[in-house]
Amino acid sequence: MLHVAAEMFPFVKTGGLADVVAALPAALQEAGVDARVLLPGYPAVLAALVKSRKVFEGSGLYGAARVTLRHGTLRGSEVPAYVIDAPYLYARDGGPYQDETGREWRDNLQRFALLGWFGAHLAAGDIDGRWQPQILHAHDWHAGLASLILRLHPARTTRSVFTIHNLAYQGRFPLGDFPLLGLPSHCLDGLDGMEFHGDVSFMKAGLIGADAITTVSPTYAREIPTAEFGCGLEGVLRSRTRDLHGILNGVDPGVWNPANDKHLAANYDVAQLDGKSRCKALLQQQMGLTVRSDAPLFAVVSRLSQQKGLDLLLEALPTLIASGGQLVLLGSGDAALESAFREVARAHPAAIAVQLGYDEPLAHRIVAGADAIVLPSRFEPCGLTQLYGLRYGTVPIVRRVGGLADTVDAAVGFVFLEPESTLTAVLQQAIDAFREPALWQARMRAGMRRDHGWSSAASHYVTLYQTLLQAAASPS
Ligand code: ADP
Repeated sequence: MLHVAAEMFPFVKTGGLADVVAALPAALQEAGVDARVLLPGYPAVLAALVKSRKVFEGSGLYGAARVTLRHGTLRGSEVPAYVIDAPYLYARDGGPYQDETGREWRDNLQRFALLGWFGAHLAAGDIDGRWQPQILHAHDWHAGLASLILRLHPARTTRSVFTIHNLAYQGRFPLGDFPLLGLPSHCLDGLDGMEFHGDVSFMKAGLIGADAITTVSPTYAREIPTAEFGCGLEGVLRSRTRDLHGILNGVDPGVWNPANDKHLAANYDVAQLDGKSRCKALLQQQMGLTVRSDAPLFAVVSRLSQQKGLDLLLEALPTLIASGGQLVLLGSGDAALESAFREVARAHPAAIAVQLGYDEPLAHRIVAGADAIVLPSRFEPCGLTQLYGLRYGTVPIVRRVGGLADTVDAAVGFVFLEPESTLTAVLQQAIDAFREPALWQARMRAGMRRDHGWSSAASHYVTLYQTLLQAAASPS
């Protein structure tokens, strides 16, 4: 089983994709599957690679003068890893997709074409004489070409799965760049071509190339073949509904567990919640908020993008403040949202604390210290922070979409969807409920008892892989 992806926690992460690519192969290994990952050789990934052997050496691939593929392990991870060392494409400061100023790297087409090329050829058995997977599992647009190139391979036996972690990020490039991919021109045209509204789309390449498509929650799987959620790809998805499956993500208990989370000043669990009050007081203190156990403390840990619906939270803040609530927000992204949140924090420093940027330890301290975590997302493929909230006794308040609808209900949290209800209304409900400690604790405990580990997801994936292999063995 080869997982091809652009991110893997803790080496490189911009969002939930990284958490999944770290946890799913590990959970598959626990289930007895030989799962490995293929990653671009960003500096942080190469620095973590140990005990490696050279598998392939070449030149001239997508403009890279020198390309080496290495196989080894990444420090701190049990999952064997293939890493593409191509300094011309990956050896640079900045993020995996953007430079330090937030501009997309100009050669992203080449950077992720190379990832797809290696994914497909490793999967086809062309690259590593010692190992060939039965399944190629490609994640998000960055790995989309792997599915398509494998489908075109004349001698393919390997089956492929493509997972959509977020359909809104599609990897679109100018049509004029298509020749750089070195693919036959028939790959471009029609519903089953990778042309999309006058661009080349890596996401569409993944969708048309894979034998099966999955996404990260059952509700999102039902939403994306519709115009409201399909981001223009609903037609392609409708043509493949028989091959489209929703499998809910899990939480990695090695990373997110209040009983032994090393970022917390006090640990706790469902039987002994005292440590959580200490986490709350310390968080309030650290963030400059009034230290009050009776003030309901709401949290956001999120990318600040239109998707996350945080403009709705801005609208609801006057109600929250007037009712004695507090907010701590950790996030970065959209400049207008960043400055709007900075502004309200300046105006209400005792009630609103905003930290812009990416901070893993602080994310843990916020999830542990807050009373509730807010996700008013317009769409949400799965969402992980509401799952972390559930595990940490931090009650989720969510919009009823995608994975949020699948994981949060009235027994463990608060759910809204316009026009029946609004974020402002459920925040008020949550504040009223917080004032009834016995009921609030019952909700916290119910959430903490929900099982959102990876084993259930891993067994769903294993079943899907087996189905694909059986179908290949006995073509109808
Ligand atoms: P998405 O992938 O759309 O960003 P998810 O909820 O699936 O959303 O995953 C987000 C992940 O990124 C979670 O692990 C969350 O804790 C983390 N995260 C988001 N923003 C930050 C931040 N500013 N600092 C630290 N971690 C963050």
